[in-house]
Amino acid sequence: MLDQTLACSIRLVGLDVDGVLTDGGLYLGAIVDQRVELKRFHIQDGLGVKLLQAAGIAIVLVSGRVSPATAARAQDLGVDEVVQAPATQKLPAFERVVERRGLSFRECAFVGDDLPDLQLLARVRLPIAVANAVPEVQAAARIVTRAAGGHGAVREVAELILKARGSWDDLVRTYQREGEDGATL
Ligand SMILES: [Mg+2]
Repeated sequence: MLDQTLACSIRLVGLDVDGVLTDGGLYLGAIVDQRVELKRFHIQDGLGVKLLQAAGIAIVLVSGRVSPATAARAQDLGVDEVVQAPATQKLPAFERVVERRGLSFRECAFVGDDLPDLQLLARVRLPIAVANAVPEVQAAARIVTRAAGGHGAVREVAELILKARGSWDDLVRTYQREGEDGATL
């Protein structure tokens, strides 16, 4: 499904936000004329992001909407970059990040769920769709996760890449060790 050579070539994973890091739901409310937007994130995706970063892989959130909730989650996770650009600008915005980091699309994966992700998925070496992705996005992907966005799909992507690299078992062992040698992630 994912061979070791390909997994080892990945140095940056881009993640769409709505529908990938979330279930696509938005909770909108208003407090005396102030708009409040809430999103529900999955806690296990957070450790997946940390484990990928520990393996030297940069994590970049690429959202087609500007949302303070996305910025807050990006800060929580300590992702390497967050791009909030109009949906039509996702590809050029991501391209600028890749170039600034001295990387190429051949070293990138991207996880998406909807039509604005298609151009990006067509360019990266490892295009991934979440289980809830629309059919066109699933067709464009090399891998379709079993989990849906907001339900651990990003954690599944992290495990797929790290297992294919052969580094997953060592990571798990750091969590099994007791005391000061244990994992700090
Ligand atoms: Mg989306």
